[in-house]
Parts: sequence; structure tokens; C-alpha cells
Amino acid sequence: MTATRQPTVRVLLVEDEESFIDALSVGLAREGFDVAVARDGADGAARFAAGEYDIVLLDLMLPKMSGLDLCREIRLTSDVPIIIVSAKGEEVDMVLLLEIGADDYVTKPYRLRELVARMRAVLRRHEHTSDLDEETTIQRGPVRLDIDARRCFVDADEVKLRKKEFALLRLLMENPGRVLTREVLIDRVWGHDYVGDTKTLDVHIKRLRGLIESEPKKPRYITTVRGVGYRFEVSRDAD
Ligand code: CA
Repeated sequence: MTATRQPTVRVLLVEDEESFIDALSVGLAREGFDVAVARDGADGAARFAAGEYDIVLLDLMLPKMSGLDLCREIRLTSDVPIIIVSAKGEEVDMVLLLEIGADDYVTKPYRLRELVARMRAVLRRHEHTSDLDEETTIQRGPVRLDIDARRCFVDADEVKLRKKEFALLRLLMENPGRVLTREVLIDRVWGHDYVGDTKTLDVHIKRLRGLIESEPKKPRYITTVRGVGYRFEVSRDAD
């Protein structure tokens, strides 16, 4: 790590419990974050629309507009990192959270250090994927995609991918370390109107593993998150 001066990270905290607002405002400011607070969902939406934020911390149970609805609304216009903060005992449907575009979630009570670590991880990932928009090559571990030429290489060897396989692998590699749900993958690769067998996704994943994994039955890169979807692992020897 080089000691470059980081720009201040602007946080929008949408939370209605005063004790959390106080603790987080102070704690996050001490960590160098610039925190703005909204005390209900509607205020959160208004503040988000009016300001510029690098990350949003979103309580689920909020007056006026729920955290889920606010998350959906923000996602209509922005890919800002969103971390959901749920109360203890609240049933959290992780699949739903990912579907509506949340990047991560923490459960109260949490330690500030844990929250900050997750915020930094999500911000890093976001920065990483934003940078990729301008790049034509994605390299993760031994796998390299040449986007413009639509070619895939594993180490020095080219592997031939069909169109959907390439789209699927690209989507996974653009979101390293992030679980993508089956619904999101099918939607983004096959489109909204896809009505085929959902096994199609698994067949494509299996074929991709056969092409890029050295042990397809014990995948190291494209892993299964049971009941949720798939993830491209951030490799330990790269990055
Ligand atoms: Ca609340």
C-alpha cells in the first residue's frame, strides 16, 4: 500500500434510531468519513437525489419509505455502493437484498470496525469495476478476457467460448468476489423475457468450469453459493 492521500469518502446514513446515528456519526467521522444523515426513507431519497455520495448505509425499517424500497429507487439511477444494516432478529432475505442491488449487509449490533472493513471492501470493489468500464481486457488469476475481440485466454491458451458463455463469464469476472444470483445472471445474460429451463445456467457454468478450471469438479474460480447463485472468486495470488 502506498500512502497516497485518499479523497474523503462521503457517506449517506439513512437511519432512524438516534443511538445508532450518534454512534455512527462520531465513529465514522473518526475513521475519516464525511457523514450525512437522513432520518427516514423519503428524506434519504431526497438527500441522495440532491447530493453526491460514495456509499449509502441503509437501515431496513424506516419511517415513510422502507430501506428496501429506497434501495430499489436508488438503483434506478445509480450504482453507488449500498450496505444494508438490519436490526437483530429481523428476517433478512439475502437473495432479495442482492436482487434489489445491495452490495452487502450487516446485522445490528455490529462493531464499528467490522462495518468500516465492509465499507472499504465494497468501495474497493466498486472502484475496481468502475475502472473496468474503460478497459477492454479483464484479467483475474489466469483467466483473461479480451472484450472487444470477444476472446478468452487461460494462461497463454485461447479457449473458445460461445456468445452466452462469454457474456456469463464476463459478468462474473466484472464482479469479483460478489455473489450474483441465478435470477440476475439469467436476466443479464439471457434477458428479461427468458422463459427457458433454468438448468441452462448450470449447463453453461459447467461448461465454463470445464474450460477454465484445472479441476472442474473442485472449482477454484467459479464457485457455487448454495441456494443463491455463483461467484467469481478473487484469487489469492493475483490482485
Ligand atoms: Ca430502523
